[in-house]
Amino acid sequence: MPTHYCPQCWQEVSPEQAVCGACGATLHETNRDLVQRYIDALRHREPTLASLACTMLAELQDLRAVPPLLALIQSRPAYEVTCAAAESLAQLGDPAAIPVLWALMQDSNAMIPGRVAALRALTHFDAGTARAALAWAATCERPALRDEAEDYFTQTQVQAASRSPSPGQNRQKG
Ligand SMILES: [Zn+2]
Repeated sequence: MPTHYCPQCWQEVSPEQAVCGACGATLHETNRDLVQRYIDALRHREPTLASLACTMLAELQDLRAVPPLLALIQSRPAYEVTCAAAESLAQLGDPAAIPVLWALMQDSNAMIPGRVAALRALTHFDAGTARAALAWAATCERPALRDEAEDYFTQTQVQAASRSPSPGQNRQKG
């Protein structure tokens, strides 16, 4: 069960709780209100809380979160916020995020953890995007990105090997 956080005081709350035990905020608002509150919290000046807002937006699976997450990435916030936003965009799965993630991955002025997070996120979209991103990273000037691409290829080979018990069997989808 993923952890939920109160959008007002950021205490951990359970998904079944109607009211936050710490600050009394109503938690069972309509999904729409809740999404908007986490969107507002993306600009929290405490990076930990802005990152939590990213995580909660992925959790709510509401595509209205995509444009504000993209704008957040383009504002180049603290790298941990960038990483959380990239991860959320991967989980939301809207291909509208691909160009922004691609630009982040290639931005030589951006912090490396954010660029690696962008690469990782890009591997969660369609196979063509994943391949192109990994191919770019494999020849990139930054060792961190090259290593990430190499790790990805190694892991998928291991997974593919453990997934195909007999030759000629149809490749598993997924
Ligand atoms: Zn609270």
